[in-house]
Amino acid sequence: MLADIRRADGEGEGMAGGAQGVRGAGRLDRLRGIASGLGARLIALMLVASTAITFGVALTEVLADYRADVKELDADLERIGRANLDPIALSLWNYDDAQLKLQLDGILQRPYVAAVEVRERGEGGADGAVRARVGEADRPGLRAERMPLVYRRDGEDAPLGTLRILLDQAAMQKVARDRAVNILLTQGSITLLIGLALLLIVRQIITRHLSALAKAATAFDLRDPSASFRVRRRRHGRGDEIDRVIDALEVMRTSLHRAYRDLEDANAELQADIAARLRAEATADHLANHDALTNLPNRRLLYQRLAHELAVAERSGTMGAMMFIDLDHFKTLNDARGHSIGDAVLIEMARRLKSSLREIDLVARLGGDEFVALLPMLGELRERVVQNARIAAEKLRAAVAEPIVVRGEVFRLSASIGVTVFPESGGTPEDLIKHADTAMYQAKSEGRNIVHFFQHDLLKAMEERHALESDLRQALEDGALDVAYQPLIDIRGTLCGAEALVRWTHPQRGPVSPAQFIPLCEESGLIVQIGDWVLRAVLRQVRTWRTDGLLGPDQYVSVNISPRQFRQQGFEDQLMAALHEAEVPPSALVLEITEGVVLGDIDSAIERMQTLRGRGVRFFIDDFGTGYSSMAYLKRLPADGLKIDKTFVRDLGSDADDAAIVDAILAMGRHFGLTVVAEGVETAAQAEYLAARQCAVLQGYHLGRPAVAARFAESFLRRRTLV
Ligand code: C2E
Ligand code: CA
Ligand code: CA
Repeated sequence: MLADIRRADGEGEGMAGGAQGVRGAGRLDRLRGIASGLGARLIALMLVASTAITFGVALTEVLADYRADVKELDADLERIGRANLDPIALSLWNYDDAQLKLQLDGILQRPYVAAVEVRERGEGGADGAVRARVGEADRPGLRAERMPLVYRRDGEDAPLGTLRILLDQAAMQKVARDRAVNILLTQGSITLLIGLALLLIVRQIITRHLSALAKAATAFDLRDPSASFRVRRRRHGRGDEIDRVIDALEVMRTSLHRAYRDLEDANAELQADIAARLRAEATADHLANHDALTNLPNRRLLYQRLAHELAVAERSGTMGAMMFIDLDHFKTLNDARGHSIGDAVLIEMARRLKSSLREIDLVARLGGDEFVALLPMLGELRERVVQNARIAAEKLRAAVAEPIVVRGEVFRLSASIGVTVFPESGGTPEDLIKHADTAMYQAKSEGRNIVHFFQHDLLKAMEERHALESDLRQALEDGALDVAYQPLIDIRGTLCGAEALVRWTHPQRGPVSPAQFIPLCEESGLIVQIGDWVLRAVLRQVRTWRTDGLLGPDQYVSVNISPRQFRQQGFEDQLMAALHEAEVPPSALVLEITEGVVLGDIDSAIERMQTLRGRGVRFFIDDFGTGYSSMAYLKRLPADGLKIDKTFVRDLGSDADDAAIVDAILAMGRHFGLTVVAEGVETAAQAEYLAARQCAVLQGYHLGRPAVAARFAESFLRRRTLV
């Protein structure tokens, strides 16, 4: 017990840093624990019980003793009466006071007798004056025992007085009391000693083990496999109840451990299951929100983020930008070089776009070569935001323009980027994307590889373009298009042919220039149908003129073929079939193509040209000098002629550079044995300049404006002489 208290003390010190109060409280608690312990309660019970029993036993014993004493006294008194009354009466009769005193002293010797006195017989038999007395008769607590003194004489009794024995009752009771106290004290201490001994025994064999078990149970940790209920205790034979409790606890512990392990395993399984499910969900979620090729967010995620950013921007007053990024000529590259190269390029571009922007920005792929960048929080002032957006957009443009190597081959791409800032009052996510898209188209029409910011009037223009396109589609269906022919005159002034130019008169707007609607059709793909229609119309016309003898066997009509039309699958066969159907020889047809047809894949363009040339169709390279035209192209392209762009011809008289370019093109043409056609000849001076330098063919308002077939025939075919 003491050891426990000391240990508790030590622990208290350890825990509370030796604070006196805490230590005291700990000790008190420990004592209280012991006091409320099993052992203490057992002892208390035993003490109460044994005290009660001791009391009862002592009381009965003392009472019995007391009664025996009283009885003994009574017997004694009787003996006194029997033995002493007569001699005392005799002494009294004889007035022998000495003898009387002796006799009284004899009685006084007896226990509890405080005094003995003899009284003479008084009036009426009452006790009279004291004749003799021994002892102290005036003490309190005395009880008088009266015995009559009679002198027997001649068979007659003569009453002489009374013997009074004064008994000390208090002394008698004191003796009884002392005896009771004695018994109680001895019995009590015996009980206490036995109790303490029992407490120690109980503690030794029961409670300390129970405490140890309680401690073990408190410290018991399921996760600790070494935890045990085996308290340090000697086992006797097959063990007692405590051993059985310990065994039971051990059994419980092992089964708990087992259950815990099972639970742990089940839990681990469950965790793995949940993790797998979460992963699967995340994957599904990712797939639903991302583009499979580039792993960029898709349209869906973009709209979500956009709606969110719009709300945030409106609330916080910060502005952001939205960019529409379209790779220039990507479709050409993809069609010409195969999808695997196209895919590799897209993946690389996605990576570049993403890494050029901030962490909070979002780059999404809408499909094809269309990307969208969402840049929230670019500032609070519109000018500032536009400035930041421009910097970011230029960064994107530069990132795209870096040469890209795919399978050892170097490609150079560019991007047209449309930018719009948000929020705009009442702008929805759809509006924003539309605006960025509009700006992107503007960038494209301005020559590509450009960043263009959205302006509201552009949207109007865009909508107008869409309207125009659908009207054009309608016109095509209704057969409302027409073809104009512009004369091509050779250096001697003879008509060598005509260029066919499509004409469209809009029911409301009147004539619409092909310069306005052809690029639009090129974007939308409508050009393929229009081009096809023009080609067939021209062939029909050529055949008519030829049968009518208006168009000679050396004369030809040149038709503009858009890049998209030219790259169309099976174009050669369609063309040959159309020629065959119209019964027009290939030599009566010239195809005007631009460098656009060779962009992306020059080899397949060359192959196609060679096939057609092998069948007698000739090629002029149109708008020569404007695009990337280079010696390299010219050298490789199997062309028959080239057309100097009208912009160079226009300034021939005034711009020395243009004159130099025209001179160079003429020299180049001569070198490669090509027919050189000068477009846009508007003045006699221009015509003279060109004629002086042996330009083979002239075309322009100075020589003849484009005119519909009937008028063209009237003006040029029937009239064999020229201006
Ligand atoms: P282009 O192939 O360069 O055609 C020549 C353009 O120059 C024509 O404009 C013609 O009317 C114009 N022109 C002729 N002489 C002069 C001149 O002296 N001065 C000036 N300033 N211009 C002159 P148009 O007819 O408006 O055609 C514009 C463009 O539309 C053409 O340019 C061509 O690229 C395209 N185009 C026209 N018709 C067709 C077609 O049937 N198919 C395709 N794919 N494109 C066509
Ligand atoms: Ca042309
Ligand atoms: Ca041209």
